[in-house]
Amino acid sequence: MSILALDIGGTKIAAGLIDDDGAVLQRFQQPTPRDSAEAAWQVTAQLIGQALSAGPARAVGIASAGPVALGAGTVSPVNIAVWQDFPIVARVAELTGLPVRLGGDGLCMALGEHWRGAGRGAQFLLGMVVSTGIGGGLVLDGAPYDGRTGNAGHIGHMVADIDGERCVCGGHGCVETIASGPRMTRWAQSQGWTGADAKELAAAAAAGDEIALAAFARATTALAAVIASTAAVCDLDLVVIGGGVAKAGDILFGPLREALTRYTGLTFIRELRVLPAHLGGDAGLVGAAALVR
Ligand code: ADP
Ligand code: ZN
Repeated sequence: MSILALDIGGTKIAAGLIDDDGAVLQRFQQPTPRDSAEAAWQVTAQLIGQALSAGPARAVGIASAGPVALGAGTVSPVNIAVWQDFPIVARVAELTGLPVRLGGDGLCMALGEHWRGAGRGAQFLLGMVVSTGIGGGLVLDGAPYDGRTGNAGHIGHMVADIDGERCVCGGHGCVETIASGPRMTRWAQSQGWTGADAKELAAAAAAGDEIALAAFARATTALAAVIASTAAVCDLDLVVIGGGVAKAGDILFGPLREALTRYTGLTFIRELRVLPAHLGGDAGLVGAAALVR
């Protein structure tokens, strides 16, 4: 029997039926309501109803934007302001009568890629999403690594510049303040570039624009620093990177791999591989299903 998977994000909420091999059989999605906690729940409940009328499920896995509190089964996503300590696990259990497991969206992305995507075969994997923000999750020794509260793997908030700018998290100099799509764009604009977003910035870099190339060099240097640091701490063998900015392809991965050689001094991290994610928008759902596999 299938697994019901939910992927709850600031932009959209998705529900799907996933089979035992991790294939997405059904997928339903809607924009995330911003007006009230109950409105966001109503949409979630509707999506669950749609998925379950397409077929039965034996358990539910939930990937949610963080922070999450695994012990309490609640979520307080930074980008879903109406949900503060929202009891998502209890609500879903009550509605479906099924066993429910919760994981952070970064963790689920890593798990999805490990099960069905670019991370197959890797035992020590960092999954990263570089988009409007930067998220991540760890699969260590082949298993999801939750941490104490379910929030391990928040690589976007590793510090890449000790004197850096204020971050949405309240800290300073997090890699997200340097290498997210909007922050790369803002830096390029501060240097005189006149484009509007990171997609255009990638096209400009591909066409040889010097400021755009410098923006990618700067961002990938910061990414390389935190990736090498994480690899040194966790003894990783693979990093998988998805999200909007990773769609830049070699424009991102080329300078990133080059920058990594500067920071991977220790012998055991020199063979670290960096690959583009394979699952795209399905990684969260597939990883949520992997939580209850
Ligand atoms: P979200 O953050 O809502 O998950 P995305 O993953 O699509 O959304 O990320 C959006 C970011 O990715 C924006 O900064 C956007 O400019 C950037 N982006 C989208 N496509 C590309 C591309 N081909 N190259 C570089 N950046 C891109
Ligand atoms: Zn931060």
